[in-house]
Amino acid sequence: MAAEPEELVVVSGKGGTGKTSIVASFAALARTSVLADCDVDAADLHLVLEPKVLKRDSFSGGKRARIKSGHCIACGKCEEVCRFDAISYDGPGNGRVARTFRVDPIACEGCGVCAWFCAEQAIEFAPAVNGEWFVSQTRFGPMVHAKLGVAEENSGKLVSLVRTVAKAAAEQQGLDLVIIDGSPGIGCPVIASITGASMVLIVTEPTLSGQHDMERVAQLARHFDIPAMVCVNKWDLNPQIADEIESLARKTGFEVAGRVRYDRAVTQAQIRKQTVVEYQDNGCAEDIRSVWTFVRNRLDAREKARG
Ligand code: SF4
Ligand code: SF4
Repeated sequence: MAAEPEELVVVSGKGGTGKTSIVASFAALARTSVLADCDVDAADLHLVLEPKVLKRDSFSGGKRARIKSGHCIACGKCEEVCRFDAISYDGPGNGRVARTFRVDPIACEGCGVCAWFCAEQAIEFAPAVNGEWFVSQTRFGPMVHAKLGVAEENSGKLVSLVRTVAKAAAEQQGLDLVIIDGSPGIGCPVIASITGASMVLIVTEPTLSGQHDMERVAQLARHFDIPAMVCVNKWDLNPQIADEIESLARKTGFEVAGRVRYDRAVTQAQIRKQTVVEYQDNGCAEDIRSVWTFVRNRLDAREKARG
C-alpha cells in the first residue's frame, strides 16, 4: 500500500505576511502535490493559480433558526430566550397577528433554544448552507478550496473538510504531499489547519507584532507536537528583528528554514497571474527556492524515518 501523503501546513500569525505567495511558489516547485487552500476567509491562491473547477459541493457548518410567519402568534417567547439578540418583532403579519417575529440569519448562532421554547412549533431549525467547496485542476496539480457565504465566519469544520478532501485526492492520484495554505490567527480555523499535520512552516514578518504572532503559532505547534520551522519573509525590512526572530525560534527548538527578501517582483508576478518563481529566477525567487529545498529535505527525511 502507498504511504500516506505528508501534509505541510504554511501558517502565519495574521494575514498579509506574504504566506500565500510562498505557498503558490511551493506548489510550482513541488509539482507533485495537492494544494489545500484553508485560508477560506481570504482564499486568494486561486488568483494566481487559476484553478479549473472539476467538482463543487455546498458546505453546511451548522444550523440556523427560521420563523414560519404563518404559524407565529407573536407571543415573543423566542425573542425573550435568544441570548444573541437575533430575533426581532418585524416579521410579516398573518391572519391572526399584524406582525410576527423574525430571525436575523447573520446574528443567529444556531443554538436552537428558540425552537425548543416555541409552543407553536413555528420555528424551523434547519442546516444552513455556509459556503461551497471545490476540487479543481491547476497547472501544478489538483487544488481543493472553498468559498464562504457572505458574513459567514471562517469555520474549523470547513477547514477540516478541505484538508480531508485534499488528502483523499492525493491518495487517489498517488501524490506524496499536500501543501496547505493555513488559516491565519490562532483560533479554531488555524487549529483545524494544523492538527495532525506532518510539519508546519511559520511565515512571519520582521516586526514586533510578527515576532509575537510567531510565538503564538509556535506554541500551538508545540502543543499539538508538530515539528515547526520558521521563515522570515521580507527580512531585509528590519534585519535586526529578523535576527531576533530566528534566534528565538532556535532557542525554542524550531528550525529556521531560511529567509526571503522583500521584492517588488511579487506584485509584478501577481499582476501577470504567475508565482514569483515562474516570473523570475533571482531575487526573492532564489530565496523561496532555497526555503523549499530545506523544507523538502525535512519532509523526505521524515518520510524515510516512517519507512
Ligand atoms: S415563540 Fe413562536 S409563536 Fe412565539 S413569537 Fe416566537 S416564533 Fe412566534
Ligand atoms: S437559534 Fe439561538 S441564536 Fe438563533 S435565533 Fe434561536 S435562540 Fe437565537
